[in-house]
Amino acid sequence: MKESDITKIRNSVKKKLDAKRYEHTLGVAYTAAALAMRYGADMNNALVAGLLHDCAKCLSNERRLAICEKHNIAITPAEEKNPFLLHAKVGSFLAMKKYGVTDRDIINAILNHTTGRPGMSTLEKIIWLADYIEPGRKHAPNLDRVRKMAFEELDSALLIALEDTLEYVKNGKMEVDPMTQKTYDFYKNGGQE
Ligand code: FE
Ligand code: FE
Repeated sequence: MKESDITKIRNSVKKKLDAKRYEHTLGVAYTAAALAMRYGADMNNALVAGLLHDCAKCLSNERRLAICEKHNIAITPAEEKNPFLLHAKVGSFLAMKKYGVTDRDIINAILNHTTGRPGMSTLEKIIWLADYIEPGRKHAPNLDRVRKMAFEELDSALLIALEDTLEYVKNGKMEVDPMTQKTYDFYKNGGQE
């Protein structure tokens, strides 16, 4: 994607998000770009995926459900219980239809940014982690360690962050998304099926 397209996306996303979410979005985009530099991934793809990863976050659940219904996007039982999870699915749909993104890797990075998935591409891992460590984040345990590790050893950082996410969800007596568990198990086993 050209620089002018990226600027267009940034301006249009700014209008769709509240100030706090936009700030977070910029944090993710630039953190993802830095990780792309470190790991030899495409920097502009990282910027675009970062800018768009939460583009459906400031829609109401009703609006998200309506978009899924209208465009025949399947909803899992977990998403039905936690419709906020849908912002990833709807976001990847909007990235294609509204923002003109055609790159499959970018679409996947947006699609999988909440739960991850086994066998993520480098860009998918970068977006997942950038969302976790961007400078505006404050609350995750071991954040300093994960931030440092993210620039040293991507998969190790991913594993620590996934482990902490699952622990946090379980301690808070919230329901673990089965895909997050699957992702963790996959990387715990060294990233092999
Ligand atoms: Fe998100
Ligand atoms: Fe986010």
